[in-house]
Amino acid sequence: MKPPRHLADLTVEQRGEVAVELGEKSFRAKQIATHYFEHLSDEPQTWTDLPTSSRDLLVESLLPTLITPVRSVTCDGGRTRKDLWRLFDGVLVESVIMRYPDRATVCISSQAGCGMGCPFCATGQAGLTRNLSAGEITEQVVASARALARGEIAGGPMRLSNVVFMGMGEPLANYGPVIQTVRNITTPMPNGLGISARSVTVSTVGLVNGIDRLTKEGIPVTLAVSLHTPDDELRDTLVPINNRFNVSEVLRAADAYEARTGRRYSIEYALIRDINDQAWRADLLGRLLKNRNTHVNLIPLNPTPGSKWTASRQEDQDAFVHLLEVHGVSVTVRDTRGREIDGACGQLAASEKNI
Ligand code: SF4
Repeated sequence: MKPPRHLADLTVEQRGEVAVELGEKSFRAKQIATHYFEHLSDEPQTWTDLPTSSRDLLVESLLPTLITPVRSVTCDGGRTRKDLWRLFDGVLVESVIMRYPDRATVCISSQAGCGMGCPFCATGQAGLTRNLSAGEITEQVVASARALARGEIAGGPMRLSNVVFMGMGEPLANYGPVIQTVRNITTPMPNGLGISARSVTVSTVGLVNGIDRLTKEGIPVTLAVSLHTPDDELRDTLVPINNRFNVSEVLRAADAYEARTGRRYSIEYALIRDINDQAWRADLLGRLLKNRNTHVNLIPLNPTPGSKWTASRQEDQDAFVHLLEVHGVSVTVRDTRGREIDGACGQLAASEKNI
């Protein structure tokens, strides 16, 4: 069974066509989009620019409830909030709002579960439940923008400025809905949220065919490639899709993306103690990346309960950073927001199932 159709699943033209099919003027779709994307309103009874009968019909047909809050957990003094959502068929997904002094970011899920099977990842262990629709992904963004605008996140009302596809799932394995969501995020108001493509990050574990498709779109989002190790031997186990697309093919595709969009891409690297954090791997990574337009984000692994995979020792992490810098590679250690609220992807959904 598919999720109900939503405004966010449709192009601007299709939204107008649906309005006409319902016996309404096509501009009514734009009015609905204005309330949804621009005003971030979820109170149709206040939309007095629409006649009541048209409004009820359009809301029923274009704005069905797709995500229902199950629970929220906050930390960092209320500046980080993780939301767990129930979808129409009972499936659970999550998103995380992170507020910084100069920006507010939401990390969203593109699939329920994930089929990529990375052994160190909680989501990967449970496998893929299903792809999310564009409406279901967009709703996470709009709900987060609304929460920020209403001042629900500590620090007063704020505009959502950044979106990262780094929650549950492999975004490029659910390509169509993810691209439609990118369009909803980047299209100017009132038909979209009007967030700059440069402030949107699409991550991938290295689906080369997906990166190539994204390159052809020519939308300058930030591409984040989860490499996790520079050598194929370990990557074949750590990131099993490497058996299909190896390290050099992934970097070739990312370079082509950079050449087309002019956007530096990021290399995501979860540092795992005694697995991929050795000095020789830092050196190999440095040599691979030194003439490429990339930035490395080192992510201290967030251990999952009962897992043998854990974060690197501080001294190994420091040495890893140093060795990359020796090669002139730009590198930062990612701030691990949300760590005390089951921050690893999928953990909040996983713990809910155990209640
Ligand atoms: S690390 Fe990412 S790609 Fe790998 S299983 Fe987890 S969610 Fe999927």
